[in-house]
Amino acid sequence: MANIALLNRCNLRCSYCFADNYTASEREDISIDTFLSLLDFSAPDRDVGIIGGEPLLHKNIDTCLDILRNDMRFMRATVFTNGIFIDKHLSYLTHPKFIILVNVNSSLDIGKDAFDRVDNNIGLLINNGMKNNVTLGINVYKENQDFSDFLYLTKKYGFNKIRVSVVIPHEKSEGGINYFYKMKPTLFNLYKELKSIGVSPCYDCNAIPECVYTDEEKAFLQALPFANDYERAIFMGERSVCSPVIDLYPDLTATRCFGCYDNLRVKITDFKNINDLKNHFFMEIDARLVHNYSRPECKACYKHKTFACFGGCLCYK
Ligand code: SF4
Ligand code: SF4
Ligand code: SF4
Repeated sequence: MANIALLNRCNLRCSYCFADNYTASEREDISIDTFLSLLDFSAPDRDVGIIGGEPLLHKNIDTCLDILRNDMRFMRATVFTNGIFIDKHLSYLTHPKFIILVNVNSSLDIGKDAFDRVDNNIGLLINNGMKNNVTLGINVYKENQDFSDFLYLTKKYGFNKIRVSVVIPHEKSEGGINYFYKMKPTLFNLYKELKSIGVSPCYDCNAIPECVYTDEEKAFLQALPFANDYERAIFMGERSVCSPVIDLYPDLTATRCFGCYDNLRVKITDFKNINDLKNHFFMEIDARLVHNYSRPECKACYKHKTFACFGGCLCYK
């Protein structure tokens, strides 16, 4: 799935923002003509994401949503939002094609008023028949992170599945395996809470490699209420790899994913379509960087040899 960045503005300044270099760059909202040409480019996937910054701040967001709703080439469109402006675009967002992925920030980070708006907006979506089209996501970005607001919303609206990401640190030198060891106790605090309320977690990106877990931790993870065996395998590190996501920007450049924004952008006009671009990133980034070992043990590890583990986020490399 490709993500189309509609703009680089955001009303928040999350300390962990993976898009911070993008949101800090010159401001450029996508034009409708460029949006249409990026949809043409992405159409072979039949599935597209809408990102920002905060995409619901785009001055013509209702037009963009309307175009997507009526574009029969796409089966599904995921809107990645911080949830604060959903009420202003509710009638355009309530469509079976849309998945609304609300990236939940705690009231400690965004203030109580903004958090209450997110809470209210999730209720609005659900009351308008979108319960199965809303996913809550949490970005785990610091040790001892407080998850109480996220868990409050999860319980209040009866979600049985949530999405979790281990945020890539700004200092990529801090990345790699040691970063996972540092974040593990905080992640397990979240997992214990999810287990106690019967909620299934699924990973976004940056899945933890299996060797980071102790046998005891693996036994704990095995018992979590996963939606299916595939999610369980990803969570337990049996497969800790990612595919090129492809982020497309208003200036007609693209990256494999946001983590590569700083120095691995290409011009989309050099490629026929999304599949051609994915193939390029796979050959030029995945196939090359996977040979940079995250730790000496990786060289001999069967997971590395079978392309089942990248040893953490490729962008560290
Ligand atoms: S809401 Fe998203 S785009 Fe905005 S600052 Fe936070 S992480 Fe970045
Ligand atoms: S390389 Fe993979 S894990 Fe790292 S940011 Fe990109 S998609 Fe996520
Ligand atoms: S490839 Fe490296 S990081 Fe992945 S499981 Fe093997 S030793 Fe661990």
